[in-house]
Amino acid sequence: MECLFCKISKNEIPSETVYEDADVKIFKDIHPKAPVHLLVVPKVHIQSIAHLEADHSDTITKLIYTAKKVAEELGLKGYKLVFNVGREGGQVIDHLHLHLLGGWRGGEERKINV
Ligand code: AMP
Ligand code: ZN
Repeated sequence: MECLFCKISKNEIPSETVYEDADVKIFKDIHPKAPVHLLVVPKVHIQSIAHLEADHSDTITKLIYTAKKVAEELGLKGYKLVFNVGREGGQVIDHLHLHLLGGWRGGEERKINV
């Protein structure tokens, strides 16, 4: 099945990409909830964290490690990493993705819903 994030990860739909390799694409969220709001997306289609299987563990490790590397490269000292899982968990796009949020300056709101 070709969902929106499958198409973005194959460059069939444009995105503001900040990082890409064979397994992962990181692009700017179209409706940012923070000064920096990126989506860390595996190129393989997995519906959600609730649909993970044992052989997906490398994929999850790579998502988190790549998010950490990109956050460092962007100079983010602190940030949030969020998985929404299922409709009740706020997930709208049924292709696994990790929200990377940061870039706040002193005094700004850090309690957010994504
Ligand atoms: P979630 O609610 O966890 O499924 O998050 C989906 C996110 O995808 C939302 O924050 C949307 O703003 C974002 N989004 C939807 N369509 C696009 C798109 N074409 N490019 C970038 N981000 C998108
Ligand atoms: Zn997909």
